[in-house]
Amino acid sequence: MIHNTEEFMSRIRNVLFTEEEIKAAVKAAGQRISAEYEGKPLLLVSILKGAFVFLSDLCRAVTVPCEVGFMAAKSYYEGTQSVGEVQITMDLKQDISGYHVIIVEDIVDTGRTLRDVAELLKKRKPLSLKVIALLDKPDRRVVEFEADEVLFTIPDKFVVGYGLDCGEYYRNLPYIAEYGE
Ligand code: 5GP
Repeated sequence: MIHNTEEFMSRIRNVLFTEEEIKAAVKAAGQRISAEYEGKPLLLVSILKGAFVFLSDLCRAVTVPCEVGFMAAKSYYEGTQSVGEVQITMDLKQDISGYHVIIVEDIVDTGRTLRDVAELLKKRKPLSLKVIALLDKPDRRVVEFEADEVLFTIPDKFVVGYGLDCGEYYRNLPYIAEYGE
């Protein structure tokens, strides 16, 4: 438990992407999606909890009609290191077979979460399936997986903010920063 703001902020190292940089990148992504999906039934699927901030900004940057849906996946961590299992803890409520689906994710790290979620959704025969990720750490990949679109590529560092947490804190930071004990 973190008790005060001083303690909270003492773990924040350098800011990697400012609020303004994120806003510009999300706006551009929304414009690309709007151009590509005009006239098509579009469903944005966010993976909770990490992608909730990204989804909420991205869906408002999309100017064509779209629906949103939520799934929750849990990947097991020891401290800041992934230990390899992914569990779908909350599934989508809608039938996706009539939609062009875009999975909206916070970060591709080992690749396990997105590989598993994408495989699961593909079996449900959406009209098409793409993945957009806010961040990508390609050096950390342990399974073969590439998102169709990535907003920012980062080195192997543990980051927080803009939806990404450490022990459930820091999701509310409006920027993305490196975390350090
Ligand atoms: P995967 O290893 O399956 O690609 O990523 C699983 C999840 O681990 C991500 O969706 C994200 O929630 C979390 N994760 C991976 N890298 C980081 C990181 O640098 N910071 C934070 N806060 N979470 C991360």
